[in-house]
Amino acid sequence: MADTPDEDWLRQSVIDTALAMSRSGLSPQQSGNVSARFGEGFLITPTGMDYDDLLPEDIVAVALDGSVAAGQRIPSSEWHMHAGIYAARAEAQAIVHAHSDYAVTLAVMGLSIPPFHYMVALLGGRDIRCAPYATFGSAELGRHAVVAIEGRKACLLAHHGQIAFGRDLDEAVKLAHEVEILSGQYWRALQIGEPPLLADDEMDRVVVKFHGYGQENG
Ligand SMILES: [Zn+2]
Repeated sequence: MADTPDEDWLRQSVIDTALAMSRSGLSPQQSGNVSARFGEGFLITPTGMDYDDLLPEDIVAVALDGSVAAGQRIPSSEWHMHAGIYAARAEAQAIVHAHSDYAVTLAVMGLSIPPFHYMVALLGGRDIRCAPYATFGSAELGRHAVVAIEGRKACLLAHHGQIAFGRDLDEAVKLAHEVEILSGQYWRALQIGEPPLLADDEMDRVVVKFHGYGQENG
């Protein structure tokens, strides 16, 4: 790979991203986790450590099959979700998982986010799906997330939270924030009633505008 990022820099970036998610309220009580693709696998936050205490060497290098070289911390229990998405989606370079309030609110109700607003298309499609529930940290949850995020850059996770990926850590966090904003807006609209939805062909047009297929990038 021509521009493989420096490992030390990437480890620190994972820490900085976790801290930023915590400070912004995206991951209350440090409920989320963060990873970045590296080499044949990824670098992910360890389980059970205070983000404020993290040092670059605490970030765990995990292979896509979940194997972890000796002498490292224990990786986040949600490594299955991260590994599954990296394996399924070549464009995923960084992933953030969060229990952000409004995403959780919709997810506990098993609600996907429909095309109530055109910004839903920023996540890649006509809606943001909600994956079925499975126990946290399970391989089953990883499989559910991969299916729900197909053709998208984010999904909700029933009775749990949300997960988003991007071409780098900054984009992954930005998209997770967008999922949280849209979740809050959709929830507010639901207080008034069932919101009218944009048509499929309009959402398809907006997806193209956002994702720059052809020459529309910008
Ligand atoms: Zn979680």
